[in-house]
Amino acid sequence: MAATLERESPFDPGVAGSPPGRTGGKLLPLSATAGGCLEPPRGEDLGSRAFEEAPNGIVVTDVDGRVIGANAAFYAAVSLDRAELAGRNLWELVTDRQGGDPSSVAEASLARAGRWAGPVWLLQERGPRRGSWLTISVVEGRGAQPPRRVAVWTDLVSPHDRARELEQLAFYDPVTGLPNRTLFQDRLLQAIHRARRSGQPLAVFFLDLDGFKRVNDALGHRVGDLLMAEVGRRLASGLRASDTVARIGGDEFSVVLPDVEPADAALVARKMLAAVAAPFQYGPQKVAVSASIGIAVFPADAESPDELLALADEAMYESKGRGPDGYRFYSRTMHARSLAQLRLECDLRRALEDGCLNLHYQPQLDVRTGRIAAVEALVRWHHPRLGTLPPARFLPIAREAGLLAHLGDWVMRRAFGRARAWRDAGGPPLRMAVNVSAEQLGLPDAVDRVAAALIDSRLEPRFAELEITESVAMANPERTAETLMDLRALGVRVAIDDFGTGYSSLSYLQRFPLGALKVDRTFVQGVDGDPDAASIVSIIVALARKLGLEVVAEGVETRGQLDVLVRAGCDLVQGFLLGRPIPEVPLRALLASGSQNAPPPSAPNPSPR
Ligand code: C2E
Ligand code: MG
Ligand code: MG
Repeated sequence: MAATLERESPFDPGVAGSPPGRTGGKLLPLSATAGGCLEPPRGEDLGSRAFEEAPNGIVVTDVDGRVIGANAAFYAAVSLDRAELAGRNLWELVTDRQGGDPSSVAEASLARAGRWAGPVWLLQERGPRRGSWLTISVVEGRGAQPPRRVAVWTDLVSPHDRARELEQLAFYDPVTGLPNRTLFQDRLLQAIHRARRSGQPLAVFFLDLDGFKRVNDALGHRVGDLLMAEVGRRLASGLRASDTVARIGGDEFSVVLPDVEPADAALVARKMLAAVAAPFQYGPQKVAVSASIGIAVFPADAESPDELLALADEAMYESKGRGPDGYRFYSRTMHARSLAQLRLECDLRRALEDGCLNLHYQPQLDVRTGRIAAVEALVRWHHPRLGTLPPARFLPIAREAGLLAHLGDWVMRRAFGRARAWRDAGGPPLRMAVNVSAEQLGLPDAVDRVAAALIDSRLEPRFAELEITESVAMANPERTAETLMDLRALGVRVAIDDFGTGYSSLSYLQRFPLGALKVDRTFVQGVDGDPDAASIVSIIVALARKLGLEVVAEGVETRGQLDVLVRAGCDLVQGFLLGRPIPEVPLRALLASGSQNAPPPSAPNPSPR
């Protein structure tokens, strides 16, 4: 049964601005001004003082949970002032133990019995969540007055717990509950002292998640935190009591394993990688991440905690450079190499600023007309000491240095700008294809950047094509689908590059608004002689036909391959046979001559579009 408010409620907006003294004798002496801000209590009656000075937080809301008034204890608990709290919904301020929303359970009870009580975690604006007990009662208004809710909040944290809470804050990571960097360094120092006495080696791991930023950007920080907590739990569950695992940075964990031989450390590293790699399920969403681990060993590599951690960090970078989901022990030669790597990173930064990158262009021939229908822009770096470097040599460095999005923007603007300039100079209409990295496609403003590059270069969108690999597309297919829809709306064509080497979900392929599939070079290489490779190409062509896509065969090197590909029904062909990637000047000469360096294919095929 809902309680009834005996007297006229001062929370009623109707009494806002009533003169001092008029509220005397009322039970709950707060009022809301017309603007929604909360006024201090008026009058010196017992009720107002009891309300205002009650040790428990008291908050009055309307029937939808919107805050009308509260007492000092509640403001202090949520670290919000009157103006900040006014109009907020009570359910925005609390969670259940797992961080979920307790409102549906509570609302059901309030509707049924006019009362609900249960444990909640109060979200403090400036501090950690606080375990609390909340009791809410519906208070019926008299006459025409609307009903209200009175919520009484009790802090469940005792002084003893508060001391523990402070210790927790100082030494533990709030997201995972694991030791933080400070506590880890202390534990590592103690472990080193013990290892020195016992003569047993000790291993320090530096673990960093691969591509975690993408998860955070795509799914939001809340899922990012949940995932981080689960990673922490999985890492800790595989360790002995004497081992320490800590979260020491955004997506970085460290582990100290006392009394361990390197072979055992490798075993533990493999176990940890497997634990992280198992997919995480968040509602309907499955998220897969991996990690890279670097390992340094006491006393062989270093003897101080800082040095051991720094070397393990270096080894982690080395491992990441070789691809995700791996581990590596620190070694001296690696140290020398990573310095060289660092130097290269600086050079690349400068090259981007000074315009020392450039593009080569590789023609794509239309099988029906035998003419160049498109070119693919491929980035090159003319390094002052090392000469011309291929993308495979410097794109991983750009990735590590966080330069890929910047580099991608540069490539797009440069390529689109050149395509426009060639047309303006009387060249034939030509599609310009650029390769797009995961880092570029994952940017929140990825589509805006493409649009800006098109606008600035004045290239019509139908002459622009973006190539993305299957792994880039499938990393977050829902998000990819949205981005591709926006790109299609812009009028830009998207092709799946290196098709057949990754894992594409057919249902997503169908949903993605694509223009073309580019058959990977590995299949093309075998088509002339290997029946399996030839059937794979035929299957890809059949699939593309069903999906209404064009097929581009890349890496065509021989006349024999070309004939098979044309017979299989490919629409466009690209490869050394038809033209290597070349700089702008020779390409323009080639375009001007209207020729290509391979004879037109013998068996023309109808195009799907
Ligand atoms: P991709 O997009 O699949 O580009 C085709 C690669 O195959 C190019 O290598 C090209 O030179 C090579 N190729 C073309 N025809 C043949 C052939 O007949 N035989 C052989 N053996 N190779 C052939 P490149 O220029 O070294 O580029 C390698 C990869 O680097 C590209 O593969 C692409 O994934 C990436 N890449 C290149 N430029 C960019 C860029 O501007 N941005 C991004 N994100 N990635 C790029
Ligand atoms: Mg490509
Ligand atoms: Mg390719």
